[in-house]
Amino acid sequence: MSYFPHLLEALPESGDVTKATLELLWRAAPEQVKELDEIFAAGIQVRISHGGTPSLGVAFNVLQIPIEALQQLWLLAHAAWADFLEFEKLKADRNALVEKSLILEAVAAAQSLSKGEVPQWPTGIPSFSEAKEGDQAKAVRVLYAMAVAWAILHEMQHAKFYENADKPNEPIDEEIQCDEYAADFLLGKIEKYFELTGEPVDHVRGKRAMSALVGLYYIAKLSPENSVSETHPPIQMRIRLLFDRIGSQPAIHFWGFATALICGLNPDIASTPISEVVVSSRDLASVALDKAFK
Ligand SMILES: [Zn+2]
Repeated sequence: MSYFPHLLEALPESGDVTKATLELLWRAAPEQVKELDEIFAAGIQVRISHGGTPSLGVAFNVLQIPIEALQQLWLLAHAAWADFLEFEKLKADRNALVEKSLILEAVAAAQSLSKGEVPQWPTGIPSFSEAKEGDQAKAVRVLYAMAVAWAILHEMQHAKFYENADKPNEPIDEEIQCDEYAADFLLGKIEKYFELTGEPVDHVRGKRAMSALVGLYYIAKLSPENSVSETHPPIQMRIRLLFDRIGSQPAIHFWGFATALICGLNPDIASTPISEVVVSSRDLASVALDKAFK
């Protein structure tokens, strides 16, 4: 199943990608078809924009998706997945030779895009929309497409609050609720997805949770919606809420992926001694998060 070419193929020509976006969200979580109907019944239009600030946002019933925002998510998804694979190698063999972490390079390139500069594109990451063959490339494409879906859904909830004039009083609460909405959409009805497709629940949950983490990092740290820091909750707390939501439910690869991402983003913590008792990969991710983003 190809998740994102629709969205990408629609880019160069017209700016209206409403249909492609609907399809992307439907493919990301087909069990949410009712919710999707509701979102799009409101007549929301989705447009790809080129140039300007890479801020994803809804105004006058139009969701603008800047191409730069997609490039940023592409960079993050690729780097996070590559780092995770290296982390897995190290987990299997402490002395394994691994590639250097890509995530900080990807973040630097993404930050250049935010400033309207031409980024120093990390050599380990294929250029935007360059489709590669193979399982890993496919895994990254799915991760990317679902992270885009998460970010879109987060913005859709902002739009809903605006439409219904029922925004939470505190902007921080609004942010958290938009995160929750996007996570709910992707993670709330996985059992139903299993009934539809037969794909094991732990597998699907892992994939979607990884994507939620990438989308969350993008919205929390790279999207200019976040430039006013007092209105936005700290990234550590936002990730903690996602962790709590997954809890002890089986989510294949998620905890290792999260640990690799958090340590990659905070290289100083990778070498700090751990005093806590770590018995599972979930514990390890949790300990890493406690020490991260200080
Ligand atoms: Zn937001």
